[in-house]
Amino acid sequence: MTRPVTVVTGGSRGIGAATCLRLAADGHDVALVYVSDDESAERTAAAVRATGARCLTVKADTSDDIDVDRLFTTAADALGPLTGLVNNAGVTGRLGRLVDTDPAALRRVVEVNFLGTLLCSRRAAQEMSERGGGAIVNVSSAAATLGSPGEYVHYAASKAAVDALTVGLAKELGPEGIRVNAVAPGVIDTGIHAAMGDADRPRRAAATIPLGRAGRAEEIAAAIAWLLSPESSYATGAVLRVAGGR
Ligand code: NAP
Repeated sequence: MTRPVTVVTGGSRGIGAATCLRLAADGHDVALVYVSDDESAERTAAAVRATGARCLTVKADTSDDIDVDRLFTTAADALGPLTGLVNNAGVTGRLGRLVDTDPAALRRVVEVNFLGTLLCSRRAAQEMSERGGGAIVNVSSAAATLGSPGEYVHYAASKAAVDALTVGLAKELGPEGIRVNAVAPGVIDTGIHAAMGDADRPRRAAATIPLGRAGRAEEIAAAIAWLLSPESSYATGAVLRVAGGR
């Protein structure tokens, strides 16, 4: 039996790293895509390989169409035909009100979170339709429906765009045997909060979460793994909220 081959963008750290490890445990070979942190990428790749899975690291900016072309070609050459894509790479920029956020930061959030998801989905769909099927999972956010006023409305809006893409692309690609779903995490304990200028955010958010705590990256990885697996064979166009009740 051939093993599934899955591209995970933003696989070096946080939710993406947990996803690479979970998929490896489920029998996938993985192309781990990251943009800058070589050390974390190599550390996660070594942990994936220790499970017996193949893991290729590819340094690429998912918001750049030339990089995206290269990453899919490299992955297919090294690992074989693509069966899955996890569009997980994402950034928030610094926390703050829209009026105080500079245009370059707005552009980066939209380009990485939304354009990057479009570019990777487009390229993966080309390969998957040739092969006769596959599964795409987009990592959205509960912010898409909460709006995140005072924190990052532009980020929330970029994730709402990902949700709309999930619905439309699922309908467009369903006849080709390609399923497209999303996972919408709530507050998850990763390095993204320190990067937005508030490392303590997951701990403080606990008071506003019905389950009383921030989530763990592994809890999101489990939902992603399910949506990639044959167990979810009739699910497409779904946005699965994994947010502790928020
Ligand atoms: P994280 O710990 O900050 O990790 C981000 C990952 O994305 C890293 O692997 C990073 O690579 C990669 N990345 C960033 N920009 C990229 C680009 N242009 N091209 C390729 N890779 C890029 O983030 P996380 O918390 O795991 O979040 C993962 C996803 O979940 C994001 O889409 C985020 O919006 C979403 N999410 C997170 C939370 C949360 O509370 N953590 C909640 C809802 C949704 P480097 O290591 O090279 O920098």
